[in-house]
Amino acid sequence: MKAKNPKKPQAQCVPAWADAPGAACICDRCKRPLRVADRRREDSAPFRLAKEPKGECPDCVMTAFLYNTYPLNLQLDQTGPQLLLNPMIRDAFLMSGILDKCDLTIDEINWQRVVDNWNLPVEIAKKDPRNPYRMGDENRRKEAMREAGLDDDNLSLSMFGGRQ
Ligand SMILES: [Zn+2]
Repeated sequence: MKAKNPKKPQAQCVPAWADAPGAACICDRCKRPLRVADRRREDSAPFRLAKEPKGECPDCVMTAFLYNTYPLNLQLDQTGPQLLLNPMIRDAFLMSGILDKCDLTIDEINWQRVVDNWNLPVEIAKKDPRNPYRMGDENRRKEAMREAGLDDDNLSLSMFGGRQ
């Protein structure tokens, strides 16, 4: 069976199988202790358990997904990650069915940890045409406006006013 979005990087959550079921390791991103899973489904998507004692924990895998998924990333950048603590987020994931064929269940996600670790480095998928937004774009845009002495409301007026 093919992954839903074969071009999307297959983020790996809890470690693995093969030679090392039960082997101890830590999350590459948040350094949380993990263990290699006993088995995995090979067609699990959009996330899959790792085979080796390396990878990221469910919280960090979810974070990378949110950073790389438009327009969720734009919305979260505007509101701040605290939005994720709203129970409607869990419901939205369940309703979307995105985890229906995935080893990861939504209840494995600790949203408080996702929020607490939000600013740790996240791998950003390069040149994905479905994701025109990069985290921080909104802040950079506002910053540029402030430096230019403009804000969103008077931009159009200023532009017209400057025209001779
Ligand atoms: Zn982690």
